[in-house]
Amino acid sequence: MKPLLGAHVSIAGGIPRAVSRGSDLACDAIQIFVKNASQWEGKPLTDTDVEQFDQELRDSEISTLVAHSTYLVNLAATKPDNLRRSRATLGDELDRCHRLGIPGLVVHPGAHLGAGDEAGIDRIAESLQEVYAARPECQTRVLLENTAGQGTLIGHQLEQLSAIVDRAGCDGKLGLCVDTCHAFAAGHPIDDEAGYEAFFEKAQELLGPDEPSCLHLNDSRHPLGSKKDRHANLGEGHLGLEVFERLVNDPRWHGRPMILETPMGDDSEGHRRDLELLRSFLA
Ligand SMILES: [Zn+2]
Ligand SMILES: [Zn+2]
Repeated sequence: MKPLLGAHVSIAGGIPRAVSRGSDLACDAIQIFVKNASQWEGKPLTDTDVEQFDQELRDSEISTLVAHSTYLVNLAATKPDNLRRSRATLGDELDRCHRLGIPGLVVHPGAHLGAGDEAGIDRIAESLQEVYAARPECQTRVLLENTAGQGTLIGHQLEQLSAIVDRAGCDGKLGLCVDTCHAFAAGHPIDDEAGYEAFFEKAQELLGPDEPSCLHLNDSRHPLGSKKDRHANLGEGHLGLEVFERLVNDPRWHGRPMILETPMGDDSEGHRRDLELLRSFLA
């Protein structure tokens, strides 16, 4: 197996259009939103969309897909209305992923909004149980993403993510997505070898040897422990390049998508440059 390098690509103009954007960057893997990411509800997915997407993929070199949930979803929301909407939206996105054959949907666990970590973790676990209970046929897994820990966001510690998985159960349908920027901003010193090993060993110990199922490769605009979620192009932030060289050459992650969510830059070539850099690290 080899590292599956790729990027988050836009679905502007329709979901099938994302494939050619990934091909243009010679991606092995792409990440997409399965509907407009800034709205609760999206246009219904048509059979034609699904067929075109399948066809485009078959004609491409892209072997691996992952989706990212909208930022509006808060599975720990304290207002009943917001919680209901968040669960409904996540359910709709899982249905879309299932139809599109996307095996994993990356989700930010949620913000407890003052209720406290424990109450937040309980509510997220309940949300996931409810959403999966309503769609037993769904094959798409939710990949909980570690967060930078800004405000009341849950998921900046791996223990919180494993607590969600343990409480929710969901028959193995929950996994982990590790974002390098978020881990570093949350205070995990993954920029050196000892910090990298400690973090990933703990991730596998707590969440299982098959995790993380997905990696987000982003440099961080802010320093270690800043709790700020601002991505930088590789080598242009505080993380430095060493961690990325280590990641793409770590056989544990081969066969799993490694996705850039870095700035596009003024010339829109940010992902191309970051991918070139990653490929240049391959031993
Ligand atoms: Zn991410
Ligand atoms: Zn981020």
